[in-house]
Amino acid sequence: MADLNLETNGAIYSSKGLLNGNRNSSDYAHEMGDQHVGTSLDTPMKDDAFDMSDDEKMMKIETHFKEIMDILGLDLSDDSLSGTPKRVAKMFVKEVFSGLNPKNKPKVSLFENKFGYNQMLVEKNIRVQSFCEHHFLPIYGVAHVAYIAKDKVIGLSKLNRIVDYYSKRPQVQERLTIQIANEFKKVLGTEDVAVYIDAKHMCVQARGVRDQSSSTVTSEYGGKFLNENVKAEFLQAIRNNA
Ligand SMILES: [Zn+2]
Repeated sequence: MADLNLETNGAIYSSKGLLNGNRNSSDYAHEMGDQHVGTSLDTPMKDDAFDMSDDEKMMKIETHFKEIMDILGLDLSDDSLSGTPKRVAKMFVKEVFSGLNPKNKPKVSLFENKFGYNQMLVEKNIRVQSFCEHHFLPIYGVAHVAYIAKDKVIGLSKLNRIVDYYSKRPQVQERLTIQIANEFKKVLGTEDVAVYIDAKHMCVQARGVRDQSSSTVTSEYGGKFLNENVKAEFLQAIRNNA
């Protein structure tokens, strides 16, 4: 089993004491699945993940989900249930997991930084709606992101769209945070990015320990954000919640 790389470029994990450094990979092995620890930076995908069309995927998922409902003993001839397998299939492929398919990646247009703005830009309270890959239950919360502009600036809504794209996958919050940060670095052509996610996990709230109040904070800092003063300015900005 691959171990989670905790050394990732300044990442801080504070998931309620689950990940508190100085632990070896065997400590994580038994936690896999129930404690939301992921194994790799890329979403684990099969090589032939996109050989099948969306329509084919939806037909197959519909068949299999119908089977799951049937095994649970539900009467699929009931008016209220009969359309559920089709709805779930469409929701998985076209909506909540559409971020698995690179064809759905947002096209990002950059603009010349005509104002010469070279300070920090913070975009706060970006909605995060994702699904835990261990239980297929919702993860929901907010992302605060920032970058320090160089020659190019990005349309603000694109920051939201990138967060949304990587959220629309079965995820672990740590991987989601890093995937968003890496994409920002790539499109903005700078290491100077910060991503901070504060989210609740339905699999913690509705089952298992049934903790309604805890939330999980993950963050990833690159470039100038590794400087404590710059990081502090960012954290101050996201704390001033208007
Ligand atoms: Zn979970």
